[in-house]
Amino acid sequence: MDLLCERCYAPVDPDSDRFYRLAHLYGADHDGTVHWRNAVVHTVPCAAAGSAHDPHDRAA
Ligand SMILES: [Zn+2]
Repeated sequence: MDLLCERCYAPVDPDSDRFYRLAHLYGADHDGTVHWRNAVVHTVPCAAAGSAHDPHDRAA
């Protein structure tokens, strides 16, 4: 499965990109089982999807 940055929607390459792994609470069942939605986001500043900004342009 390809990883997509949840902020800019660009692909994240786990071998060459720096990124955070996030876990968002998705919901819970009545028995207490908690469900998580996992996501990734670039560590470099990347603009929200639709702003036509490449996150790799700002890598110093
Ligand atoms: Zn990004």
